[in-house]
Amino acid sequence: MIQLYVPLNFMGFVYREIKQAVADLEAMFRLLAEDPEIEDRPGAKALEVSGGAIRFENVSFAYDPDRPILKNVSFEVPAGKTVAIVGPSGAGKSTVSRLLYRFYDIQSGRITIDGQDIRGVTQDSLREAIGMVPQDTVLFNDTVRYNIRYGRWDATDQEVEEAARLAQIDGFIRQMPKGYETEVGERGLKLSGGEKQRVAIARTILKGPPLLILDEATSALDSATEKEIQDALDRVSRGRTTIVIAHRLSTIVAADDILVVEAGRIIEHGTHGELLARGGLYASLWNRQREADEARETLARMGEDD
Ligand code: ATP
Repeated sequence: MIQLYVPLNFMGFVYREIKQAVADLEAMFRLLAEDPEIEDRPGAKALEVSGGAIRFENVSFAYDPDRPILKNVSFEVPAGKTVAIVGPSGAGKSTVSRLLYRFYDIQSGRITIDGQDIRGVTQDSLREAIGMVPQDTVLFNDTVRYNIRYGRWDATDQEVEEAARLAQIDGFIRQMPKGYETEVGERGLKLSGGEKQRVAIARTILKGPPLLILDEATSALDSATEKEIQDALDRVSRGRTTIVIAHRLSTIVAADDILVVEAGRIIEHGTHGELLARGGLYASLWNRQREADEARETLARMGEDD
């Protein structure tokens, strides 16, 4: 028995580790082919996306039964709109995206897309409809072209390059002697975090999903790179129902709605202007971030003066 238990237990461990990393959701599902914990219901139908409206209705969730993470969370992302989720580290922001992707089933409440409970549709169709730009993209040890085409295998070379252009990475790729045939990944050219994220954006543009989850990088990028990535993200999210998990508040001032999550609850929500006027947690996070940015700029200027 123990002989069987150990490898199974180990598999479980590996699976959980990968799931936690959420490095590249689609890669993971292709590799594991089947999720051992979440199953399609008998007779589950394919998700039918009309506008792509997302609703969380009184959602409660815990990874471990004795430690609730999301507590009675309700919100809506109307079709084609952008909702940002902000809040302190560990508040439950990324958990929201894991639940929408149905990595886990919730303990109570309902998550729907265009009125269909995500537990009642096939996982394949659900994940097909959602594009994910993760914080940290895993690249395959292959060419840049392969890594972008991964978004849609039947895309032509022209489509791959057009997606790269929209993602603001085409210029960078063309500077390299082998251009799109440059090998990247562990054994090839190492790309910076910002470059990898733009590859992920290009993949997503190619995939063209109706729903989008953008998990912003926590690491501070220089302001030129941040602007380029922001432009690329704005372009990919236009007309798509988008959830942005934001760490840099400056990137979400234009969001249609901002949810402020603390300890698993939405404690306030509204537009940037409304939340500032309210003077709550968002306003204090905003002021703190502005002070930090100013201090960084002052330090950078002092460095230039030396
Ligand atoms: P950050 O801004 O740091 O990325 P977050 O708001 O996205 O944080 P989550 O990743 O959603 O936070 O995690 C919320 C809480 O759930 C954290 O306390 C975390 O420790 C816990 N948690 C996350 N994954 C698991 C897991 N697989 N098992 C148990 N607890 C988990």
